[in-house]
Amino acid sequence: MYLALCFGQVAVAEELHVYSHRHYEADQQVNRLFTEKTGIEVKVVNAQVDQLMERLRSEGEASPADILIAVDAGRLQRAAEEGLLQAVESEILKAATPEKLRSSEGYWYPFTLRARALVVAKERVKSGELMDYEDLAKPEWRGRVLSRSSTSGYSQALLASIVAAKGEKAAMTWARGVEGNLARPPQGGDRDQIKAVAEGLADVAITNSYYLGLLLNSSDPKERAAGKKVRMIFPNAAGRGTHTNVSCAGVAKHSENVDAAKKYLEFLVSDEVQKIYATSSFEHPVSMDISISKQLEEWGEFKVDEETFQEIGKYTPTAIRIFDKVGWK
Ligand code: FE
Repeated sequence: MYLALCFGQVAVAEELHVYSHRHYEADQQVNRLFTEKTGIEVKVVNAQVDQLMERLRSEGEASPADILIAVDAGRLQRAAEEGLLQAVESEILKAATPEKLRSSEGYWYPFTLRARALVVAKERVKSGELMDYEDLAKPEWRGRVLSRSSTSGYSQALLASIVAAKGEKAAMTWARGVEGNLARPPQGGDRDQIKAVAEGLADVAITNSYYLGLLLNSSDPKERAAGKKVRMIFPNAAGRGTHTNVSCAGVAKHSENVDAAKKYLEFLVSDEVQKIYATSSFEHPVSMDISISKQLEEWGEFKVDEETFQEIGKYTPTAIRIFDKVGWK
């Protein structure tokens, strides 16, 4: 830029505007690397995806956004239906991502997977005692379960997957049962639930897999100690699979920088970037090649619930209604 000014040219560095719900250190690392490799600067607007979608709606054609990133595909499904995204075709993206985990029309593509896992107290829960999400609603788990609030997109997406798998009535019975089994009213994030299990407040927490990775690899010895007291279960392994929050990216409808946007999407699924996510935020790669991270290898592979995946967006409003009805705060 400085040189360009010296020579009196009107040189504007190429920029990519990313609206993202993700806010991890790993993302900043990935964006810096993208700039290093392409010379394209990445400008990020961070907010909840609902706010970002609202912003896209109100900005309309004047929107500077090139990319929209969400932490669950349901929101991007809705963004696509609303016409906030444009479809892109890419052989690289198609080859790198499972067909069932991407938009069939190319509106959005996945780039990391986070299992909605169950983390249990090693000392108090025997192996085989807890296998499925459905178990959490059984009477033997009364006062032993922890979950974050129903306002969390993670909670809503999980319940939406249960609506998709079992129907609304069964999902309501499940939610009522689990709410009745909670050790305390929902409070804090996923990490707080794991810590509370480690402290003995409850025996199982519903949490995303990568939070346990963050605890186990924390610079704080207390967090590492908490992580060692628990064990992770990927539920419904013998059935439909584990509900998975899939981070997805799509190109904004009014992006005028589609080539760079596509390059960015392809970059996100490159081996180099997948390794950054697997080793620093402990998310699973879209390829499920866990050999790229020691931590992921320790946990082992899991089966993604692909059966309900495409219906999460559709059933999220139902899930919110159910949470309300059963009084899950
Ligand atoms: Fe998270």
